[in-house]
Amino acid sequence: MSYKLFLSSIMAASIATAGLADEVNVYSYRQPELIKPLTDAFTAQTGINVNVAFLNKGMIERLVAEGDRSPADVILTVDISRLAGAVEAGLTQAVQSDTMSANVPADFRDPDGHWWGLTTRARIIYASRDRVPEGEVITYEDLADPKWEGRICTRSGTHAYTLGLLSAAIQHMGETGAKTWFEGIKANLARKPQGNDRAQIKAIWAGECDIALGNTYYMGKMLGDPEQVPWATSVRLDFPVFEGSGTHVNVSGVAMVKSAPNQEQALAFMEFLTSPKAQEIYAEKNFEYPIAPGTNPSDLVAGWGSFTADNLNLMEMAAHRADALRIAQEVDFDG
Ligand code: FE
Repeated sequence: MSYKLFLSSIMAASIATAGLADEVNVYSYRQPELIKPLTDAFTAQTGINVNVAFLNKGMIERLVAEGDRSPADVILTVDISRLAGAVEAGLTQAVQSDTMSANVPADFRDPDGHWWGLTTRARIIYASRDRVPEGEVITYEDLADPKWEGRICTRSGTHAYTLGLLSAAIQHMGETGAKTWFEGIKANLARKPQGNDRAQIKAIWAGECDIALGNTYYMGKMLGDPEQVPWATSVRLDFPVFEGSGTHVNVSGVAMVKSAPNQEQALAFMEFLTSPKAQEIYAEKNFEYPIAPGTNPSDLVAGWGSFTADNLNLMEMAAHRADALRIAQEVDFDG
């Protein structure tokens, strides 16, 4: 009797497998160089092909326009505000998975399973080795101190990375405090906000400014580009804190599209992305901080120093995004 049961369960399993198109469709804001090693490893392990559409912008608009006919199963993006935006637009579905719950700490996922964090990155200070003594940058609040007048470079005040930091500042300082703080940073800028994170570090190297806001992984990227190595070696990474808390971090993450046509394959892909194996690929290829228990940053990243992350809840941070954008516009940060 047990033999018969065994046989029938095998048959059920193979029928279920045969019924699946062996593919999963991904819309990604993350770059091909990072995603390719992950999808290759997933396909090698499961036989499921991954089709990736790489987008620079407009993912939410595209999903809304496609509606239930969208081929997309999974979205990949950085920034909690983009993940939260997809959830708010009703484009995602709740995913429950014991594997993913074990791999992703509760602070880094939606309680209902609509989005799941995969890696973290800190937004820190790049400081000139020549012109900024160690220990000079302690807090984010300090960036508004007049001692930095004419010495700070940063990218646009309306970029997602800046808005994430400003959202955290609203949570810590209140709206009025955050606005005053942001005005103080504007008053200290060496030049109008322009360019990406790496352009700020180039400006430090060129002597235009002394400190810049930037995400941690760009140090690794610069060290891999011969033209940018001199920029990288001209700076030191300092990990500031919000007073009484920690260093500002944001996530990259994944969500399943509400209308996903290939749900089982999508779940398998999401489970793979949270696995220690995939997290190590993120850590090695893009110099991010993996979050699965037992995983570690690459030796290079670990060498930049350890830090305590801000204890701010990511969803609360995302909830301040509209206020952050309004403040950035009110203080005319880019003007
Ligand atoms: Fe980036």
